[in-house]
Amino acid sequence: MLAPADAIFTNLQGLEPGSLDAARRRGVWDGTSSLVRRGAEAIIKEVLDSGLRGRGGAGFPTGRKWSFMPKVPAPDRPHYLVVNADESEPGTCKDRDILRFDPHRLLEGILCASAAIGARTAFVYVRGEFYAEAQRLSRALDEAKSAGLLGRNAAGSGWDCEVVIHRGAGAYICGEETALLESLEGKKGQPRCKPPFPAEIGLYGCPTIINNVETLAVVPEILRRGSAWFAGIGKPRNTGTKLFCLSGHVNRPRNVEEEMGLPLRELIEKHAGGVRGGWDNLLAVIPGGSSVPLLPREVCETVSMDFDSLQAVGSGLGTAGVIVMDRSTDLIAAIARLSRFYMNESCGQCTPCREGTGWLWRTLCRMVEGRAEVAEIDTLLEVTKQIEGHTICALGDAAAWPVQGLIRHFRPLLVERIESYRRKAQAGA
Ligand code: SF4
Repeated sequence: MLAPADAIFTNLQGLEPGSLDAARRRGVWDGTSSLVRRGAEAIIKEVLDSGLRGRGGAGFPTGRKWSFMPKVPAPDRPHYLVVNADESEPGTCKDRDILRFDPHRLLEGILCASAAIGARTAFVYVRGEFYAEAQRLSRALDEAKSAGLLGRNAAGSGWDCEVVIHRGAGAYICGEETALLESLEGKKGQPRCKPPFPAEIGLYGCPTIINNVETLAVVPEILRRGSAWFAGIGKPRNTGTKLFCLSGHVNRPRNVEEEMGLPLRELIEKHAGGVRGGWDNLLAVIPGGSSVPLLPREVCETVSMDFDSLQAVGSGLGTAGVIVMDRSTDLIAAIARLSRFYMNESCGQCTPCREGTGWLWRTLCRMVEGRAEVAEIDTLLEVTKQIEGHTICALGDAAAWPVQGLIRHFRPLLVERIESYRRKAQAGA
């Protein structure tokens, strides 16, 4: 359990203003100049030592990502920092609350990161639907610039850092980092083939780092309090604090900051008031946003909320959007709805994703009614395997995994739905 003194996001519920004065009272922009003056190498080392892994879903070590950037920018190839604020994963709303309640924490993180990777310009790509959030961030940016905290000689650090806010148009796929870059360049938001990776050829063909909002927002605290402090929270390889979004059939849906590796059951019972109707009424949980396989109740009893523990049980931490489903849930209909989402959001470049997501949705729609053959369950599984790992970006995997989770853990439910339909049809015939 996270000690109150270790919390970073002390205005997560928005009980205080997001203004510069209020942010300063919470410790934001405290000694930023000295943090930046440590220099790129020292900042990257501190972040590496902290064990921070990206909070956008993939969980890649942040310091290692930064270390891929060229040490010195070429004269004609400036470095860029891009902030992925295109939070669109179903069940996830943590970056949104940072943008609206604690935007200065993000801006300070942008300054520290830009100094670490040699970027003098940072772009914040905000999800199109986050209109009010973009406005709040924009107000915070104006405040920071007026106070000399960003722009030329930012915070008196000697480092110049310009921040540009760009609003997307509301496409889920633009949360994929290379699709985001395409969109930022004014093109259709479609993922690029990799390699080359953005650290080599990114925005406008220049070296670029793309980081999630939460990832950047914790960096200044890591630098202020030290990597050992951050690495001492959570578990080895899964360090630090984490924002969890608790939604669905819980008594008190909310966002909460906790230590990495907290048991899922404790997270739900302590912070969300427990499952509606009690723990025994739990059917399943999707632990990391809609893109990861669901977990049945018996696994939820003991699993911990961190990258490695969830991977070990065949799921993932993803964005830490915890979607709780009680026994009233029609799981087949729920997963069918997610399949429809991925079908709609597929950019259409890869045949397995473009065709396969629609195939998953149509088959699942029939299975919701039971209008299918039992043998089709294996066909459905086979289709997910044909999508998984055969596409340009991770949306294909994201579409496949929820269906795989349903079949892995709830195959008897699918069989019973199909047989029940057949029994009724025969009785009526
Ligand atoms: Fe587009 Fe889907 Fe291919 Fe990703 S996997 S590039 S969303 S078609």
